[in-house]
Amino acid sequence: MKVLFVASEAYPLIKTGGLGDVAGSLPPALQDLGHDVRLLLPAYRDVLERVRGRIQTRARLGLQDGPVAVLETTLPGTSLPVWLVDAPAWFDRPGNPYLDPQGRPWPDNAQRFAGLARTAVAIAQDRAGLQWRPDLVHTNDWQTGLIPALLSLENDRPRQIFTIHNLAYQGLFPMETFRELGLPVFLQSMHGLEFHGQLSFIKGGLVFADHITTVSPTYAREIQTPEYGCGLEGVLQARSRDLSGILNGIDTETWNPATDPHLPCRYDAHSLERRGKNKGRLQRDCGLHVTDRPTLVGMVGRLVEQKGIDVVLEALPRLLQWPLQFVILGSGEHRYEAALEALAARHRHRMAVHIGYDEGLAHRIEGAADVFLMPSRFEPCGLNQMYSLRYGAVPVVRATGGLADTVVDATPDHTIAGTADGFTFTPLSVEAVLHALDRAHCSRRSRSLWRGLQRTGMAQDFSWARSAREYSALYARLLGRSEAA
Ligand code: ADP
Repeated sequence: MKVLFVASEAYPLIKTGGLGDVAGSLPPALQDLGHDVRLLLPAYRDVLERVRGRIQTRARLGLQDGPVAVLETTLPGTSLPVWLVDAPAWFDRPGNPYLDPQGRPWPDNAQRFAGLARTAVAIAQDRAGLQWRPDLVHTNDWQTGLIPALLSLENDRPRQIFTIHNLAYQGLFPMETFRELGLPVFLQSMHGLEFHGQLSFIKGGLVFADHITTVSPTYAREIQTPEYGCGLEGVLQARSRDLSGILNGIDTETWNPATDPHLPCRYDAHSLERRGKNKGRLQRDCGLHVTDRPTLVGMVGRLVEQKGIDVVLEALPRLLQWPLQFVILGSGEHRYEAALEALAARHRHRMAVHIGYDEGLAHRIEGAADVFLMPSRFEPCGLNQMYSLRYGAVPVVRATGGLADTVVDATPDHTIAGTADGFTFTPLSVEAVLHALDRAHCSRRSRSLWRGLQRTGMAQDFSWARSAREYSALYARLLGRSEAA
C-alpha cells in the first residue's frame, strides 16, 4: 500500500510531544511491514538544519497562497523518505513549531497549516509532479485537519484516516480566517468546519476523514461523552461507526531494563531481585532512608492538572504517615512544583522531588520504584505506564484512556487468571488514590503475587511493530483489501 503520512512534527527531526514520537516511529514500522510510506512535514528551520547536506528539491508548486518547494530527505536512522514543505515565509522560524518565543501561538498558524494542507492535497492527487499517488492519506491532529476537508472536494481521491492524539488541542481561529484562507463557502457550516462561531481545523478531520482513530480504545469511547469530548462529543458520536482506538507503541530499545545504560544494575524478568540494588542507589542518591521495607512510589511527568497531580498533593500528607517513600520527577505549573518541593522539604527522608526534565533519572526511577503512580484525569494513551510495566515497576493508575487499556487490575479473578499486572481505580479522589496505594503496598507482602504482577507486565508486547500491524489491518479494511501490504 502507498501511504502518505502527514504530521506537524516527527522525532528525531522535531518534537514537542507524543505526536512527534508517533510520527517518528509508526511510519518506519509500517515501512518494515512492506508498505510504501512517505512522511510529509513542514520544513521548519530546525529540521532543515538537522538534515543539511542530505536533501534535494523534488518539486515546486504554485499554491494559491504562495510558492512552495517539496524537498526530499530521509528520517535519520531509517530509510523512510521524508518530504518537507519548504515555504520560508511560514516555516523558517526558530524554536517551537506552534508558539512564538513568548509562548503565544504564531499569529499566522492558520495560514501556515493551510499551506501544509494544500501541499498535501497536491501530492495526494499527484498534481505535485512527484509521480507518486498514495492509496491512503493518514493525517494527525488539528494541524492537518484541513487535508480531509479539502480532499473531500476531489472526485477521485485516496482513502483518509485522521488520528486524534489529544482532543484538547483543536486549532480554533476567528471566522474571518475562513475568508482569508479562501476556503469553499459550503465548508463554513456546523456540518463542516464551524464550531461555536469559530473556524475549527480539527473538525476537518473529524467530519471528513473516512475513519478516525485515537491512541487508545478507551479514549475512543470516552471522547464521545461530555466529560471527555471537549465539546466535540456530538460530532464524534455521529462518527462512532468510523471511530476506533489503536494503542501507541514505545521504543523498546531505549526502554529495555536488560540493556539500559542509565541503570546502575540491569535486569530482566528472571533476575528481578537485582532491582533491589537500583532501589538502594536511588534512595541513597535522593537522600531517602536506604531500606527495602517501605514501598517506593515513583512518578514522572508533566506537573499539570491532566496528570491528577493536585489529587496526589492532597493525598500526600496522609500517605507520608504510611510506610511509603516517594520520588517525583517533573515540571509544569509553578504552584504544583512549589507545593511538592515544600512538602519534600518537610519529609526529607521519605519524599524527594526533582523539578526539571531528566531522561536518565526517569529511567532510574522506572528501574527502582516498586510502584509507579499515574492518577490521570484523562490520558489519550500514556507512555509512562508502559515503561513501568516493562521495568517491573507495578503501575497504580486511574482507569482512563490508555491507562485502562494497558493495566489490568489485581482483582482476585485477574490474579488467578494470571492477567493482573497493576492496580487501577476509577473515581478521581483522594480516597481512591489512598485505597489503590494501600492495596499495592499490602500486596508486596506476598512475594509470589508481586513477582507475578511484575512478570505479567514485563511479558506484554508494547512494540511499534504491534501498533503498525493494527494500523495496517485498518488500512487494508478501508481499502477493501485482504492483504495488508
Ligand atoms: P504526556 O505525553 O501527556 O506528557 P506520556 O506519559 O504519554 O505523557 O509521555 C510523557 C513522556 O515524557 C515520557 O516519555 C516521560 O518519561 C517523559 N517525561 C515527562 N516529564 C519528564 C521529566 N520531567 N523528565 C524526564 N522525562 C519526562
